[in-house]
Amino acid sequence: MQLCTLWGDMSADRASDQYPQANVCDECIKHHADSEDSPIVAVNGSYDSSYGEECALCEIHISEE
Ligand SMILES: [Zn+2]
Repeated sequence: MQLCTLWGDMSADRASDQYPQANVCDECIKHHADSEDSPIVAVNGSYDSSYGEECALCEIHISEE
């Protein structure tokens, strides 16, 4: 699990809504690494529990990774 920046709501006013941060599991990061329509903008670093304990894309729990 890594903390990532995702593509959000581009019509939103705030940058935090346009580019929300969320935890994404390693499988999803790997899966989207080469795809052109990846929902991931950037991988920021290590997992941060303040953003929740589940992958934002597949909803796997940190304990199941
Ligand atoms: Zn995932």
